[in-house]
Amino acid sequence: ATEAEEKDLVIIGGGVAGYVAAIKAAQEGLKVTCIEKRGTLGGTCLNVGCIPSKALLNNSHLYHQILHDTKNRGIEVGDVKLNLAQLMKSKDTAVTGLTKGVEFLFKKNNVEYIKGEASFASEHEIQVNLNEGGERTVAGKNIIIATGSEATPFPGLEVDEKRIITSTGALALEKIPESMVVVGGGIIGLEMGSVWSRLGTKVTVVEFLGQIGGPGMDTEVSKAAQKVLKKQGIDFKLSTKVLGGDTSGDKIKLDVEAAKGGKKETLDADVVLVAIGRRPYTAGLGLEKIGLDTDERGRLVIDSEYRTKLPHIRVIGDCTFGPMLAHKAEEEAVAAVEYIKKGYGHVNYGAIPSVMYTHPEVAWVGQNEQEVKASGVKYKIGSFPFSANSRAKTNLDTEGFVKIITDAETDRILGVHIIGPGAGEMIAEGTLAIEYGASSEDIGRTSHAHPTLSEAFKEAAMSCYSSAIHF
Ligand code: FAD
Ligand code: NAD
Repeated sequence: ATEAEEKDLVIIGGGVAGYVAAIKAAQEGLKVTCIEKRGTLGGTCLNVGCIPSKALLNNSHLYHQILHDTKNRGIEVGDVKLNLAQLMKSKDTAVTGLTKGVEFLFKKNNVEYIKGEASFASEHEIQVNLNEGGERTVAGKNIIIATGSEATPFPGLEVDEKRIITSTGALALEKIPESMVVVGGGIIGLEMGSVWSRLGTKVTVVEFLGQIGGPGMDTEVSKAAQKVLKKQGIDFKLSTKVLGGDTSGDKIKLDVEAAKGGKKETLDADVVLVAIGRRPYTAGLGLEKIGLDTDERGRLVIDSEYRTKLPHIRVIGDCTFGPMLAHKAEEEAVAAVEYIKKGYGHVNYGAIPSVMYTHPEVAWVGQNEQEVKASGVKYKIGSFPFSANSRAKTNLDTEGFVKIITDAETDRILGVHIIGPGAGEMIAEGTLAIEYGASSEDIGRTSHAHPTLSEAFKEAAMSCYSSAIHF
């Protein structure tokens, strides 16, 4: 190979972490190259994650609402038909628009985009197997690894993305299965389970733990979410483990048993969605060549400035520590570039919101009640139901509540947990409150427009330090 041109920064991976770092670095005046092998930018999130799942969630909700929730609103609809191919096409349009949009931003900001698979040739040099054929070597004064994550496989259930699927297959089924078993009642299981349940599939969620929602969800909220999703037609088998599956027949046979041992049963399904978490993806990077460490879960080991033990190589996003969320990856991207350029950066890991885009949505930020209790801090809880909120009532969408946890001595907000309409938007207020170190009284004495759902947030805060007015 000829001598490589040296860039200020070479980024491996064009997902949310990688592309945001690339744009930010270019804005800071660095010469940047971003290498992505997928053929499109935006990574998991834009191609097979956040974006396509939200397109399907939005439109399947609309379909379900037209079928089941129009008459009492005074809207009589005729023959309602689902056109699955068109539903998928509208999802693809959203994906293409956004991935092309990132490519445009690269051009606009002068980021060099190389389509190919990167692996370390040495500590500063990266060899790229170009998608169009051939090879190229690029060198970076600084390197950011942002190679993301992949679905964790379930031993014994071989994924073909047709009958045994991950979220990727669940975003692209060509017909509506009669039945689906979801292994794992975390965010992916509940979001994708909701989509197919709304479209007519009988969905059963098998979860190893005693509650749904994955790590972080407040138990009270999780129970409420389970109740609503059950009402919508999803069945749950909690504290249950999957032993194995048989795909030889027309129906997949899945053997499950109580997590603590004991009662066994066999579940039939046309499709099995494996959604037991995701794991860092670093295959083919040649980490061994430069001696970078991963921990027992495959995460690249870094310090608080995102540096590996080779300080010019940083790691951000799903392939290192922390929650696997797009907005967390984005924050890290900006901070990592700031460390490179200015020597300082900042991410508040205590104020990263989580949202589950079911209906109603579930959203939270900060500590949940289990965590606060375990920490031994004396705490107060204020809550307010959407059934007492005027806007939720006018919208005939009153399921859920806002729950705010405060430090009993200082009134500082420790956590905000919402299940209800628009929870994913409302959580921004909770995140800002935590970021600014707000007390419940700060929120309760702030005027919130009437009639809005956000008044439920204000009244939950009021009920922490005083009393809500409308409940
Ligand atoms: P990725 O997005 O995985 O990007 C990494 C990129 O690196 C990939 O494109 C990959 O092709 C590329 N790459 C890997 N190795 C190489 C190599 N050697 N050479 C070149 N390129 C390479 N998060 C949210 O916050 N909100 C949501 O609503 C949400 N919904 C989700 C729904 C689903 C179904 C899934 C699966 C995930 C969802 N997530 C959501 C999580 C979110 O997608 C991830 O947290 C986010 O994509 C992480 O970004 P990343 O850049 O670290 O990794
Ligand atoms: P998750 O960690 O949210 O949930 C996995 C669930 O599977 C957990 O409840 C776990 O107890 C259960 N589980 C694990 N092993 C099991 C087994 N053998 N049998 C039965 N249950 C088992 O993971 P996920 O839902 O796969 O999502 C992966 C990642 O993608 C998460 O980090 C999530 O935050 C992210 N994601 C985020 C969003 C969003 O922000 N809206 C949407 C989708 C995915």
